[in-house]
Amino acid sequence: MTPVEVNVERSGGEEGGGRRHPNTCPECRSHYRDDELRHAQRVCAQCGHHFVVGAMERIDQLIDAGTFVEIGAELRAADPLAFVDLKPYTDRLTDAELQTGLGDSLVAGHGRIVGRETALAVMDFAFMGGSMGSVMGERFCLAADYAEQHGVPLISVTGSGGARMQENILALMQMAKTVGAVDALREAGLPYISVLAHPTTGGVIASFASLGDVVIAEPGALLSFAGPRVVEQTTGEKVAADFGRAESNLRLGQLDAVVPRRELRGELAKLLMLFSPAEDEPTGDNEPLMTIVEGEANPIDRLLGRLRRGRRHG
Ligand SMILES: [Zn+2]
Repeated sequence: MTPVEVNVERSGGEEGGGRRHPNTCPECRSHYRDDELRHAQRVCAQCGHHFVVGAMERIDQLIDAGTFVEIGAELRAADPLAFVDLKPYTDRLTDAELQTGLGDSLVAGHGRIVGRETALAVMDFAFMGGSMGSVMGERFCLAADYAEQHGVPLISVTGSGGARMQENILALMQMAKTVGAVDALREAGLPYISVLAHPTTGGVIASFASLGDVVIAEPGALLSFAGPRVVEQTTGEKVAADFGRAESNLRLGQLDAVVPRRELRGELAKLLMLFSPAEDEPTGDNEPLMTIVEGEANPIDRLLGRLRRGRRHG
């Protein structure tokens, strides 16, 4: 029997030339079965590396079982430019749909997190690099509209390589459109929580993804308009090793928090509770405030007392 020679090549990083299996950790080379990885929320048990998560799996991780309702699922991209690069845009769309089971790079809908209703917009990087086209933008706006109509918060989870070049100006217009939707939420006084997953770049980080009232990122996620290699080539300067990563964005004040994936659902639940309207206000156990009011208390106690009297009598 002839011995089989196996040539193992190790590439420098995840963007290196060598192809690695999608379930092999790019940091520590641990390899997992798909069900193992899914069970671990696609976080490497050895080193904590966060693998990319598809939109539907992300929704499973975050939303109370059985409460998610999708909206805008029937929307599909048109091809007004009849765009062809190596193959027609319509073929790329079909391939992406067959590969991911999704109609575009964002899934919109609503559901509950630990019992609290929220609108949701979750991107899928596997669908044409999570690129932003007209359907992605429209679905994001449908989720924002739902939030506005029902007076609930909006949570987005992004992962994107930027605008979809096959849609040209129609893709770029989604930046203005999604920012407009976020602005409408702000005017309605509704919270928008943005979760940035690896990688959130280009037109998505340059528009709605940066505009959350709270902006959270996953550890190690690349979050920058252009990637480090492009910046190095353009400026001719070497960039820091953690350029554009979540941790450096946090240090530079671009983020509110870096939250490991296993804690994400709990942290979102906490934020939804903090942002929740008056129906969740405690009643009864703050009664003692009433006794302070009639005397010459401090201005805040007087204000609280007036509010309580108003509520009781009128
Ligand atoms: Zn690892």
